[in-house]
Amino acid sequence: MSGRPFIVAIDGPAGAGKSTVSKILARRLGFALVDTGAIYRCVALMARREGLAFNDDAGLEALLARVRIHFQVQGEDNHVFLGGQDVSGEIRTPDVSMGASQVSSRPVVRAGLLQLQRRLALEAQSGAILEGRDIGTVVFPDADAKFFLEANPDVRARRRFEELFEKGVESSLEDVLSDQTRRDAADTARTVAPLKAADDAVRVDSSALPLSEVVQTLEEEIRRRMGSRAPAR
Ligand code: C5P
Repeated sequence: MSGRPFIVAIDGPAGAGKSTVSKILARRLGFALVDTGAIYRCVALMARREGLAFNDDAGLEALLARVRIHFQVQGEDNHVFLGGQDVSGEIRTPDVSMGASQVSSRPVVRAGLLQLQRRLALEAQSGAILEGRDIGTVVFPDADAKFFLEANPDVRARRRFEELFEKGVESSLEDVLSDQTRRDAADTARTVAPLKAADDAVRVDSSALPLSEVVQTLEEEIRRRMGSRAPAR
């Protein structure tokens, strides 16, 4: 019995379709959307701007106290604001992507961002979707619905490449694939909150599934669980 928002955890590796699927689901369900990868990216961007090394724990800890992030859905996109500035484009560069992967392996950063991620979700009116790597295992182990989205590496790299192309970011498929391989390895191998499916997550492999089917699978499962959750008091 709980009065908190309905929490949906969507985890998985880069390019598995989490962002696209989460955006559509958030719109359909009227839920808030918390892109936790964007939060790690903001920390990397701040570190870069301030000339800090991505493994400078003391510097990162001081920086975390000043992180002010909020999300705002504008049209089709979930914009991220850092200290009031829209940094949605700036956090997608290859340099910040690698930086995010590095800062996210520092225990001090993961611990420092835990409350922020939980607060952003718990502030939501009726429900929140959190997408990331460790939502179902660490951030909300008691989430109301948990999913782990997967797809084979080639499919994921192609999707990411096309997404960057549409955003006007220049890259090559080879570069996207090698960046993805490095990030996957780092995310899976790290000792704190590694990328892995929660035991009770519903696993969905989107390699050969159209987007609409992935969305439908998740939406049906979420609505089923919303229906069976005890009403808030
Ligand atoms: O999802 P996205 O690619 O934007 O995430 C950027 C990086 O942030 C990932 O490569 C991963 O290292 C890190 N991350 C994480 N835990 C999360 C979300 C993202 O470690 N919950």
